[in-house]
Amino acid sequence: MSYLDLTILDLHKALVEKKVTPLELVKEAIDRLKKDDNNAVEYLMEKEAIELATNIGEIEVDNPVWGIPFAIKDNFSTKDVPTCGSSDMLKGYVPVYNATIVEKLLKKKAIPVAKVTLDELAMGGTGATGHLGKTYNPYDPSHKKMMGGSSCGSASVVASGIVPFALGSDTGDSIRKPASYGGLVGFKPSWGRISRYGLFPFTPSLDAAGYFTRSVKDAAMLLSIVAGEDKNDFTSSNKPVENYVDNIDKPIKNISIAVIKEIVESISNETIINQFKETLKIYQNLGAKINYVSMDKHLLQTLFPTYYIMSCSEATSNNANLDGIKFGPYFDGTTYIEAMKNARTKGFSERIKRRFIIGSYSLMKENQNELFLRAAKNRHKIVDEVNKILKTNDVIFLPASPTTAAPFDNKVDQLKDEYLIADNYMVIANFAGLPSITIPCGFENDLPFGFNLTGRAFEESKLLNIAKALEDKLPYYNLSVRSKK
Ligand code: GLN
Repeated sequence: MSYLDLTILDLHKALVEKKVTPLELVKEAIDRLKKDDNNAVEYLMEKEAIELATNIGEIEVDNPVWGIPFAIKDNFSTKDVPTCGSSDMLKGYVPVYNATIVEKLLKKKAIPVAKVTLDELAMGGTGATGHLGKTYNPYDPSHKKMMGGSSCGSASVVASGIVPFALGSDTGDSIRKPASYGGLVGFKPSWGRISRYGLFPFTPSLDAAGYFTRSVKDAAMLLSIVAGEDKNDFTSSNKPVENYVDNIDKPIKNISIAVIKEIVESISNETIINQFKETLKIYQNLGAKINYVSMDKHLLQTLFPTYYIMSCSEATSNNANLDGIKFGPYFDGTTYIEAMKNARTKGFSERIKRRFIIGSYSLMKENQNELFLRAAKNRHKIVDEVNKILKTNDVIFLPASPTTAAPFDNKVDQLKDEYLIADNYMVIANFAGLPSITIPCGFENDLPFGFNLTGRAFEESKLLNIAKALEDKLPYYNLSVRSKK
């Protein structure tokens, strides 16, 4: 065992007891990153991290992230450190400021050791479409199974036991899905709870900054540090930040947990379904009430198309600045249009261009009513239904994914309910701006899978409490490939 294999809070104890130093931790994390073969790293912050660890000063006993190494998804801006969103379009771009979430962690003397990879510009779900190619799932040494995305690098380095936490972003499920495939805690807060200043926008009406940890308590502790209003992000909430650890061990007696029947029924994997039923029993034994609720199946079938139109439209508009002049590689051209066309043709992969075409098409004046506005209206319909469920229930509880990590060459029928509904329903939390967390809940053929809890807006404290109650009853606290060996 190495100290790096511990959760943040356990590692903090070791640091306080002077059993290990930040410099030793950083050196070991860098060493592990160099030996890692999962293709997770965009930029190794070796020099920067060693410098921070060397000059860190006296131990801060009441600061749980002091000296803790972590990784940053490469769509968060980092001052003087290359940040490209895993797109050739931004190769060589070096931001002049830090994203607020990064800045807050640096102020608390946590130490970033790497910028880690993602699906290009966070638009993807496999972890195979970044400019570095596939990121592998550490649970499958044969490198055939996906990590899931878009926060693939972040999930991979936490599941590998290289760092105890990593930052990610979540527009549809980009933290919570790879968390399921990697046996991790993956958390996205309410919309506006954590500042997104410095996070490359994908779909601002859905985007959330969040992170991967190996325990729910770590996730709660981090939220108290990184949440809060930010003058630089006018969408950040001014609701007071709580101490999210204070209530984490409260009994969950009389809590109401909703299970959406149609989503569970569209899952065919028996191991996942059986384990889901077992977990419901755990909650019942803890005194929680389980309520099976219904949602219109046709409405559920519109989740993914609605997400797709919304996200492609917003992404098209928000990435218009990547034109090869303001940002990106410069290509010759006698006019602005020609230079931009050359840069965007060469700078983006086919998938990104496809999304921008769908986005532009949906936003065209003659199509707007039928596509963009219709999707926006439908989003509200979905949000109304979800909020109705949450009026009488504290959380919604469901398997995070209908499968364990799929092989890269997997072909799925995208018109089947299993894909349309069970594989993509987690966008509900983004549509409604709700806090949502995936926690590891089982294994099938040595691959982990997780379940997801979604709570009411700004009720992070209760959500984390309900998640921790389950974590306490399962053998998956601090799960990583190393702890499993
Ligand atoms: N997989 C979804 C997509 O491809 C979600 C991405 C995300 O949450 N960033 O758009």
